Amino acid sequence: RFISVEGIDGAGKSTHLAWLAQFLIARSICLRQTREPGGTVLGEKLRELLLNDAMHLETEALLMFAARNEHLQQVILPSLAQGEWVLCDRFSDATYAYQCGGRGLSIEKFTQLEQWVQGRSEGFIEPDLTLIFDVPLDVSQARMANSRVLDRFEREQAQFHANVRAAYLARAAQNPQRIKVIDANRSIEAIQQELAQLMTEWLS
Ligand code: C5P
Repeated sequence: RFISVEGIDGAGKSTHLAWLAQFLIARSICLRQTREPGGTVLGEKLRELLLNDAMHLETEALLMFAARNEHLQQVILPSLAQGEWVLCDRFSDATYAYQCGGRGLSIEKFTQLEQWVQGRSEGFIEPDLTLIFDVPLDVSQARMANSRVLDRFEREQAQFHANVRAAYLARAAQNPQRIKVIDANRSIEAIQQELAQLMTEWLS
């Protein structure tokens, strides 16, 4: 199975992702953990460019999908074919949120790229489950203000992050079966309790 984890910068995604990985490994699931943009040698090089170099918004979207194609072909599809589970830190919903919501890429172009890269003769490949960790903007901004060195996206204005968040929530509303929104503006214990319950139900 294929699980992706999403959220605006400063939502606490990394902490919950690490917990989720341990939860699955503890249930003897053979897990392949990976991330986007990245996950392959070429993908990590593209990530460096994407996180540091200014570029046209469509170039940005094309490079995200180029990295994604490499990742699918080299890592995600082979892992799934071997029966491993894939736990991916961001996938296409991030492109919808950041490049469409944040940057203004047209949904039509996003959909074309998504079909091109994820459309396959066996059917469209997308995560079976996506968790979006959601926090209000002031919370994420405050967390980022205390954080490590910020990348090109994290340095964007608050309005950019507000648009990204709105796009994530819209995407979740359009895909309620696949995407679960987790209120991450609570104690870590409360969030882990909800995650444990959600995952136990999903695994059964
Ligand atoms: O998940 P992580 O915070 O490491 O992601 C790296 C950066 O890439 C983030 O700042 C995120 O906003 C950005 N990103 C993006 N578009 C994507 C995926 C990630 O702008 N499709």
